[in-house]
Amino acid sequence: MPELPEVETVAANLRCHLPGRKITGVTLRCQKLRRPLPVKALQSLVNKAICGVRRRAKYLLIDISDGRILMIHLGMTGTLSLPDTAESSERHDHLDLTLDNGKCLRYRDPRKFGLVAVVTPDADGQIAELGNLAPEPLSAKFDAEYLFQLSRKRTTPVKTFIMDQRRVVGVGNIYASESLFRARIRPTLKAGKLSRKQCRLLVDTIKEVLNEAIKIGGTTISDFYGVDGSEGKFALKLKVYGRAGECCTVCGAPIKKIILGGRSTFYCPKCQ
Ligand SMILES: [Zn+2]
Repeated sequence: MPELPEVETVAANLRCHLPGRKITGVTLRCQKLRRPLPVKALQSLVNKAICGVRRRAKYLLIDISDGRILMIHLGMTGTLSLPDTAESSERHDHLDLTLDNGKCLRYRDPRKFGLVAVVTPDADGQIAELGNLAPEPLSAKFDAEYLFQLSRKRTTPVKTFIMDQRRVVGVGNIYASESLFRARIRPTLKAGKLSRKQCRLLVDTIKEVLNEAIKIGGTTISDFYGVDGSEGKFALKLKVYGRAGECCTVCGAPIKKIILGGRSTFYCPKCQ
């Protein structure tokens, strides 16, 4: 599943190619992803220009010249590419937005859990469809004091807590395990037991891990590919995720795998 660094990588890639381009055509090859595709709204994008590409949580926001936003969530298996218009589509290529430079923005999604919508923000730029999203993990708002106050009296395991999108958005399974390893905090620790010092350490490691992942273009773990077809490289640096039974790179103890909040969780029983 694409996580925040992967979506940010896609946004950064699209930002190099889309702004300034005009949409000249729309081709739909299926009716429904997670929700039905908004056929009319998508067709009304023809002859409009793209003026920017942003990310909020795991949503890609493509700003349209008339003030609307093309909102895309990649779901489990969604990918975007920019092939030449002449390049024939394959089975799971559900949507093409043809551009005025002979390319198209192509959405592919074998499992169809993604989302494509056209939304209109309110006067303050807020998008009702996104609801009240928690702070971005890389923003200044997500700091040690925020995590400390929020976690008081919470008995949820810390890993589940930091993955809760109502607390902070976009800290997915891989990055939660890796951040906790770097902060030497056991994933099962009750969130309310985090000390101020641990909160500071954890916030720092979450930002550090996400920034490193973004810098090298996301992880390969879920067959993620950038818009240009390049593979992410973060998988090479994972210290605990997916390494059950292998030696901890710090102490040599075997990495443990447990299920926490329904998700595979990896940690070093000695370091954490
Ligand atoms: Zn260890």
